[in-house]
Amino acid sequence: MKTKVIKVNPFHPDQEIIKEASDLILKGELVAFPTETVYGLGADATNSNAVRKIFLVKGRPPDNPLIVHIARHEEINEVAIKIPERVYELAKRFWPGPLTFILYRSQKIVDEVSAGLDTVAVRCPSHPVANMLIIQSGKPIAAPSANKSGRPSPTRADHVLEDFKGEIPLILDAGPTLYGVESTVIDMTKDPPVLLRPGAMPIEEVEKYIGEIVIPDFARGYGKYEGKALSPGMKYRHYSPNKPLILVEGENKVAVIKDLLKENPRSGLVLTKETATHFKDHKEMIIIGSKENLYEVAYNLFSSLRAMDKRNVEIIITEDVSEVGIGLAVMNRLRKAASKNIRA
Ligand code: AMP
Ligand code: MG
Repeated sequence: MKTKVIKVNPFHPDQEIIKEASDLILKGELVAFPTETVYGLGADATNSNAVRKIFLVKGRPPDNPLIVHIARHEEINEVAIKIPERVYELAKRFWPGPLTFILYRSQKIVDEVSAGLDTVAVRCPSHPVANMLIIQSGKPIAAPSANKSGRPSPTRADHVLEDFKGEIPLILDAGPTLYGVESTVIDMTKDPPVLLRPGAMPIEEVEKYIGEIVIPDFARGYGKYEGKALSPGMKYRHYSPNKPLILVEGENKVAVIKDLLKENPRSGLVLTKETATHFKDHKEMIIIGSKENLYEVAYNLFSSLRAMDKRNVEIIITEDVSEVGIGLAVMNRLRKAASKNIRA
């Protein structure tokens, strides 16, 4: 299969291009498209065969469910049932945007999307291309991130091409995504609600409206979740470059990173600009932003891991940031991506 990459204006998407993409969705094909978080790999959420293709090309374990994307708030009533009142309040405040709710699933959404669970993940993305694609196809669109299972998520069209060249018919290229990490996923079937995955929407903002949200250890990126019904996505290795990634956390990280470099001079460093000042002479370095601006760090996170993976290094060394706001999402991704986590 030839993979077509079409450039599309992120603010004023060309109607013809959106039509070409939605025709593919309606034929049961896959389309990679930009959202404000990362690129998604989309299929018609009401078509089992189409949804199965997502799992097939991603190499995604069949028990890891997908997020259903809708274009207008009201469509939540078509994809979910028994929706608590506070979900409507949150939707009013935060949609369109990077916030996903786990709700009970309606008949309209096929089993494959939810990996057989009785729940469904729903979000309304704010990216104009995503929004227009959903409206034009007239279907809810099921989409995970558009990367091979286990790899860093794609924040640019060329990342998608890297993983899926020859395997999907179309990639819509609207340039780099705004946030660079996935949506925040909250289980709203529980009381109090439970954070399943921190993401681009800071949990502190959501708590202002509905009070305390439970943050389990696995949402911080620790350990492996062994259960079934909570968030199957927690079970698997995620977001990882091909080369071993060492995450160094804590106050003495500079000293520990220096020791690691002595042991293995052919290491690539992925650091904040503040920590990077201690390693000025080290050649293989990518700066992911300032620890004072965690949006910048999130924006550069996955693309930096992909870029360092391609350089002539044996291992990749990175560091922690504060777990405040979007920083919680950054730390969740780094802890899951790391093959080794050192407390310094
Ligand atoms: P991705 O699209 O690659 O960002 O993955 C979707 C995320 O949403 C994964 O972490 C899934 O485990 C989670 N998810 C999707 N549907 C459900 C659900 N019904 N229950 C719990 N977690 C879900
Ligand atoms: Mg993913």
